[in-house]
Amino acid sequence: MDLQPSDQSGGSGRDGGASLPRDPVFLASLASSLLDQGVAALVYVDRNGVCLHTDDRFAAALALAPADLIGKALAGFDHPVLSALAETIATVTRMPDVDALPLDCQSVGRDGHPAILSGTVMAHRDGGGATLGHLGVFHDTGDPDRIAQFAACRDTFVATLLDAAVDGIIVSDRTGIIRSINRACCRLFGYRDSELVGRNMTMLMPPPFSRDHDRFVDSYMKTDRAKIIGIGRETLGQRKDGTVFPIHLSVGEARTGNSVTFVGIIRDLSERLAAEKRASYLARHDPLTGVLTRTAFLEECEALFESRTDAAGGLDGGLFALFSLDVDQFSDVNEAFGFHVGDAALKAMVNRVTEVLPANTIICRIAADEFAALARVADVGHARRLADLLHDRLTASIYADRHWVRLRLSVGAAVQDDGVHTLEELNAKAKLALQAVQHDGGNAVCFYTPEMAAAATRRMMLTMHLTHAIEREELHLVYQPIVDSEGRVRSAEALLRWNHHVLGPVSPSEFIPVAEESGLIVPITDWVLTSAIAQMARWEAEGVLPDRVFLNISGQQFLRGNLTQRLEELLAQHPSLRRHLGLEITEQAAVRDLKVAVRTLGELAELGIQAAIDDFGSGYSSLSYVQQLPVAKLKIDRAFVIDVPENPKNNALVRAAVGMARGLGLVTVAEGVETAEQRDFLVSVGCDLMQGYLFGRPMAPDALAAMVRGQRVPTGS
Ligand code: C2E
Ligand code: MG
Ligand code: MG
Repeated sequence: MDLQPSDQSGGSGRDGGASLPRDPVFLASLASSLLDQGVAALVYVDRNGVCLHTDDRFAAALALAPADLIGKALAGFDHPVLSALAETIATVTRMPDVDALPLDCQSVGRDGHPAILSGTVMAHRDGGGATLGHLGVFHDTGDPDRIAQFAACRDTFVATLLDAAVDGIIVSDRTGIIRSINRACCRLFGYRDSELVGRNMTMLMPPPFSRDHDRFVDSYMKTDRAKIIGIGRETLGQRKDGTVFPIHLSVGEARTGNSVTFVGIIRDLSERLAAEKRASYLARHDPLTGVLTRTAFLEECEALFESRTDAAGGLDGGLFALFSLDVDQFSDVNEAFGFHVGDAALKAMVNRVTEVLPANTIICRIAADEFAALARVADVGHARRLADLLHDRLTASIYADRHWVRLRLSVGAAVQDDGVHTLEELNAKAKLALQAVQHDGGNAVCFYTPEMAAAATRRMMLTMHLTHAIEREELHLVYQPIVDSEGRVRSAEALLRWNHHVLGPVSPSEFIPVAEESGLIVPITDWVLTSAIAQMARWEAEGVLPDRVFLNISGQQFLRGNLTQRLEELLAQHPSLRRHLGLEITEQAAVRDLKVAVRTLGELAELGIQAAIDDFGSGYSSLSYVQQLPVAKLKIDRAFVIDVPENPKNNALVRAAVGMARGLGLVTVAEGVETAEQRDFLVSVGCDLMQGYLFGRPMAPDALAAMVRGQRVPTGS
């Protein structure tokens, strides 16, 4: 054993009476005898606090070598065991009556395992009671139970407080060795208390942070300034099972004399971050379909658009195409099958959009049944092919929640060109194209053209003016006669006219769609019903009322309005007019919601009001649909009549329609009859009634009355 007497240790010359002689030989023999038993760890410290002797066992328990300690003052170390030893020595020194005090302290040995040094610090005094030095005799134990027990013997009040805390609390020394840890912290990291006490904090951090921590401690040791003291920061923790999770760590520092203790308060951020992530996801994504919301879409597209256009003057090997999609009358799906089917159909739609459009396309849901997609395309032709494919795929049957659904879809599209500098411009063009499709009846694809902007402006202006048309008395009805094969007026169709005080006459084929899009069709229809019934009452009084007067009812009004109820109200004072009133509804409106149509037409029939299917053949339905409807008349669209008898195909179609309608017990009316040849053909195939310029243009009520009056004379004679 190598003993190096300290310079400061000698000098008193009073060794003789020491209770424990300061004789190196004695010390060595004592040490050896204890060592032989294989239990003791020894250290001798002189009265100046300098370590004069230590054996390898003691040094090893402190993760040091004897040479690190011998000849050095304890105060020069920052080690929990040496600090505890120095404190105990100070206590013994202050108490002359006490020769020895027990000391238990934690340590991490050279082998890296936690251990407890447990033993006694004895005073080495001379005969006069003066302290010469202190001998520490310890045994060390790595027994986990003993360590756990030791950990449990902390101050119970403090321990209770710590354990009651929701946050994790770790107490460590300045080297990062954990002295104490509360229950929340154990739970957080998945360790038992005894697995942590005495180990380095870094075991709770994933690698980059644990390295940083070591560096931080190093720098702290050098500068004595800790960067995170008092300030919290977000970092990562690592659980026993290796999983890494976000934590908020704030560290406090307690100094007692030379010794420093750190208290770390750790809060698990996983839940908060997950909630934040979810909230920001929800703010940016449509919860139903998972695609972006409108705002997020605009942001992402804007960024993409700018980055791409900056790079290569806008073209960068491709163009941006914006597709604006809107399901026509999507509410019909919800109403017919329920929202779950509607939702499933929307999800399927998004899947199909994703399939059809190139990867990296940005998709968003703008409104319930409205989507937009920004895609990169090679050229305009590519965009057109994609748009057609989109329309084909999205209008193909969708199996949604145990129902087959077929959607009608309007697609408006715009492709980036020299005139498009921002996303907003492209978006505006795609929207105009969408409006154009919808205005033309929907269920089609339309690419932006410059005329659309003008048309949209006109529609907007018309909408504005139409709002005041009723109060300004700019609306009136004209009546077109409907004649039988002998040319006698049997009924009439009321047609709406709008004569704007500045714009002049506006065609119903222009303003009726505007009225439908803006919802103005509701008050307008009401005005038509009221005016026509008033006119019929006058004609009845004059004895010139035709068998039936037909009014046009728009699909929207027919399917949603409280039509039957309103007619009952209006006819209450004129019950006799019921069997003279007829309503024309388009084939599209009737088949769009067959259930509602059947019910409404049934109610009307009960009132005595007859219904006719208008523009038959212009839509996509067939007689198989029509036969389910309680209607009395079928009006064959002008498009079929226009080139009979020259066009053999139309001849065959008209003949077939008349034949089938007959079979179903329906009266046929041919629209748009302009020539005698057309009339003769129609009569020859058995068409019951005809309407067209040949017999009379839409005319003022008095003119129609005159016609009716005029033909009554020969009949009566
Ligand atoms: P519609 O119900 O099919 O009306 C027949 C249209 O054909 C009328 O056009 C009529 O003037 C026109 N017409 C009749 N005979 C001939 C002909 O021999 N040759 C040609 N070229 N055309 C003929 P109009 O009055 O311009 O009405 C257009 C459409 O506007 C109507 O088509 C109807 O769908 C709608 N409409 C008119 N009035 C109303 C109304 O009061 N309410 C609603 N909801 N729609 C209306
Ligand atoms: Mg009509
Ligand atoms: Mg018609």
